[in-house]
Amino acid sequence: MIELKNVSKSYYKVKAIDRLSLTVQEGEVLGILGPNGAGKTTLLKMIAGLVQPDNGRISPFFATWPTIAYKPERQLFPNHLRIKSYLEMIAKLSNLNRAQTEKEVTQALAWTGLSDAASKKIKHSSKGMRQRLGLAQLLIGRPQLLLLDEPSNGLDPTGQADIVRRVKQLQAAGRTILISSHQLHEMTEVCTRLIILKNGRIRYQNSMQAALNVTAHVLIHTDKKTANMAAFFAQMHPDISTDGKTVRLGERAFPLRRQMMMQLLRNGYDILRVEHKTATLADIYAEVVR
Ligand code: ATP
Repeated sequence: MIELKNVSKSYYKVKAIDRLSLTVQEGEVLGILGPNGAGKTTLLKMIAGLVQPDNGRISPFFATWPTIAYKPERQLFPNHLRIKSYLEMIAKLSNLNRAQTEKEVTQALAWTGLSDAASKKIKHSSKGMRQRLGLAQLLIGRPQLLLLDEPSNGLDPTGQADIVRRVKQLQAAGRTILISSHQLHEMTEVCTRLIILKNGRIRYQNSMQAALNVTAHVLIHTDKKTANMAAFFAQMHPDISTDGKTVRLGERAFPLRRQMMMQLLRNGYDILRVEHKTATLADIYAEVVR
């Protein structure tokens, strides 16, 4: 859908984005992770066209730009307006006619659960309602690409779960979504692919499924030190190793686990526990950001 090639952006001496290349594929939910100041907001703002890169190029795949909606991390609303009037104003700014405005505003209110609060003044709305209003605003004009900067920031667990549910619905409806967040659990649930930024550069990128499976392994905990068996196991498969009273089988050695446990039992070991481990996003993040 969109391609970034060698894009850089500095604010005075700070390199917010440093020679970053990335493609955004249609229909994906791309998660952008990274510590504070890593460049996530700058990246989203550049794709939204709100910040110009100093170098490099951001271009659409097929000559025409997708329609884009951007939800900033801290969104300011005109507090004196009522929720519905605000969305109508956004519809007008998006060049929708009267009939389209009525239809899309009604749909956006219903979809974000704000129909009953439509006549409420924004200044009387809770933080959760404002976040939902920000999401409702995103939908007006049916944009193809949605850029969400920390959409669940400051929300309670119910509000966060709500955002996850709505992002999944948007993807199912065919939208392409870029989302930045510090909520690793949320990112694991919604993203199909992720990148981790640090100091303006991509330090890691993978599909979510591959990321979580890449370091899958089995740990077999026994009652005695396993060092005596190390050479034997290494000969069985290079992806088997020993550590203290534990034997570790990497993913490629999984098919040998029954055989391996038989060997342990034959050699007088008791098997106390077998653990099947997959990496969590927290493990991957910690490793990359360290
Ligand atoms: P956070 O997780 O805290 O929101 P981020 O990953 O979104 O951070 P950015 O907001 O993109 O990071 O900032 C990247 C770097 O650029 C930081 O060092 C930040 O201080 C700096 N920066 C961002 N905007 C400006 C600006 N308008 N003027 C000067 N420096 C800026």
